[in-house]
Amino acid sequence: MILQESPYLLYSDGKGNIFEDTSLYTIGRTGWDAIPVPEGDWIELPDGGSLYELPGRRGIGLDVKTGEMRLCEKGWAVAAFIPPAYTGLYLAAYESEPGAPLLPLFCYTAAGWHNDKFYVPAVRVEQDIRQECRGYNDNSIQSGLEQLLNAYPHNRLVKHLADNCCNTYHCPAARNYFMGRWECPVPSSPACNANCVGCISFQPEDEAIPATQDRLTFKPTPEEIVEFTVPHLQTAPFPLVSFGQGCEGEPLLMWETIGKAIREIRKHTPNGSININTNGSKPAAVQALCEAGLNSIRVSTNSARKHVYEAYYRPNNYSFEDIVESLKVVRRYNGWTSINYFVFPGMTDSVEEYEALRKLIKDTDLSMIQWRNFNIDPDWYMGKIGQYETGEYIGVKQLMELIHEEFPQVKYGYFNPPAERIHGNYETDFAHW
Ligand code: SF4
Repeated sequence: MILQESPYLLYSDGKGNIFEDTSLYTIGRTGWDAIPVPEGDWIELPDGGSLYELPGRRGIGLDVKTGEMRLCEKGWAVAAFIPPAYTGLYLAAYESEPGAPLLPLFCYTAAGWHNDKFYVPAVRVEQDIRQECRGYNDNSIQSGLEQLLNAYPHNRLVKHLADNCCNTYHCPAARNYFMGRWECPVPSSPACNANCVGCISFQPEDEAIPATQDRLTFKPTPEEIVEFTVPHLQTAPFPLVSFGQGCEGEPLLMWETIGKAIREIRKHTPNGSININTNGSKPAAVQALCEAGLNSIRVSTNSARKHVYEAYYRPNNYSFEDIVESLKVVRRYNGWTSINYFVFPGMTDSVEEYEALRKLIKDTDLSMIQWRNFNIDPDWYMGKIGQYETGEYIGVKQLMELIHEEFPQVKYGYFNPPAERIHGNYETDFAHW
């Protein structure tokens, strides 16, 4: 339901209890600015969302009587982690006290309280329900897991997907694999040629935040990859297999292995889509994979601007131009190309970024934008990439509307589409209730 007035600000007592402050309306943050959120942008916190207390931080709100902006002194600030398929439009607005601890690698969207419900400024960009928490059944996951571990007793990858991805990290993609449906994750690379500030699989010892999952420790063989992916492509609804997962480094560093696996997979089945999630650093390797039978690519980026990209990715021996070239290569092979676009209000919707994004879409004939929430401490991110000024911004929702108006062929979403959706009816051919 869309709200017709601002919700009240939320605060926590530091013990995990959250309260509303009815003397303050909650507002949002974009870049370094705290600003009111347009009423029409608030939606109920979707199922699967969660709330965080932000230690050492005071929420900023609008006094319900005077309209003045002021801090909530009653407790710590609160933010929302919104579930996949939704994109946050404003960050949580707060002021950090000296010594406030670094926030872990999650997204921190504004949140408020109204009529006994939590609200967030967000839009649903993806209708595919593959990661909706009500769709998971623990019993069928565990029975699927046992069955597949028995079917592939010597397969290190299936064991990694079972023990680490499914049972430790509760990875939605791994859980779908063990339920025999949709997207199957295929991690393959223990190493990476980038040094992202907010890497979720590796954080240097001198950084104060942990990686959210440990990186793969072995190099799978083509045989190990083929063994469990072919049956998945042959039997799963809307099947796709995706190289490049959160629990590994950069899959393009394993392109020879992946290429051999793709060729072998396609000897056994034409079904489904074979995708790679990547930093796009090696266009020549991407070309070799297209030759082998790769169907789609998703290149991750925090920006369509070279200097903003390189300040965050800190690439080893590659540059922003390489990731652009990788997108072009896949289009030359008539493949599907997406950007995994880390949305940061104030940066993503700055006028400079908007112009750069328009250029990227034109130069690469991009197929899709996956508008992903950026899982990172906002102050830390901006400080690390040296962004102390964000310039003029247009609003994330307006940015989405402007891009859609100019490039109606570019699809929006949150997940890699199956072959049925790419070649069929984009509006209907995917997983839904
Ligand atoms: S490209 Fe991926 S694995 Fe490599 S540093 Fe960045 S987030 Fe980490």
